[in-house]
Amino acid sequence: RLEIRNIKRHFDGRAVVDDVSLKVMPGQVTCLLGPSGCGKSTTLRIIAGVDMQDSGEIYVDGKLICDTIFRVPPEARSIGLMFQDFALFPHLTVSENVAFGLTGPKKARHARVNELLERVGLTHFADSHPHQLSGGEQQRVALVRALAPRPSIMLMDEPFSGLDDRLRDDIRDETLAVLKDEGTAVLLVTHEPGEAMRMADEIALMRDGQIVQQGAPYNVYNAPKDREAAAFFSDVN
Ligand code: ATP
Ligand code: MG
Repeated sequence: RLEIRNIKRHFDGRAVVDDVSLKVMPGQVTCLLGPSGCGKSTTLRIIAGVDMQDSGEIYVDGKLICDTIFRVPPEARSIGLMFQDFALFPHLTVSENVAFGLTGPKKARHARVNELLERVGLTHFADSHPHQLSGGEQQRVALVRALAPRPSIMLMDEPFSGLDDRLRDDIRDETLAVLKDEGTAVLLVTHEPGEAMRMADEIALMRDGQIVQQGAPYNVYNAPKDREAAAFFSDVN
């Protein structure tokens, strides 16, 4: 479970994230949806711990992990990351990539890696290197690598944008199924309303650093708060 409260972040005197509060429950996908430059990635980077808010608090499973004086380092936050530019380690095999964040007895690590590779149908690539895999296959490996340590939260920033249309639908469905199986709380960033409609349990519509509307996809789509929100949804296919 993820909860952020009153997060603010300024760059050069401008509020890029302007008092954002959000909750994401286990097994649920919340989409942070909004146009380019509205502050989505900045919000995610703050939650991941690679950037720091000016004010506000972040909680994971009810525990404070970051406010303005206290800060748990990124690797100790129980957060998995899947970012578009967050590539696999090219010099490691597929199974070494998936095992990368794992600790504990070798046998248990091995079992976890095998379980996940089987789950996404990539067992036969275990000893291959990333460059021998297609884009979609690499994306699946990146997903299970992030999930291997069983994070409470998964942060995804436009993870499907590098894939062609047909493949993207398949990977979206498979990713959702795996995330639901694992019971992970997911915060997914996208600027595509169609993707949010397809994947979200809850949509948080963001504009100029603020969440302007939040609710079930059906409700946000059918009852947009204002003209601008309606226009933003008009190109859902
Ligand atoms: P996109 O959909 O294009 O990825 P976004 O919603 O993810 O957009 P952000 O990357 O969060 O947008 O950026 C929000 C605003 O903050 C932009 O105007 C950007 O230029 C600015 N910004 C982000 N990082 C920095 C930084 N380190 N220094 C100064 N300005 C920044
Ligand atoms: Mg972004």
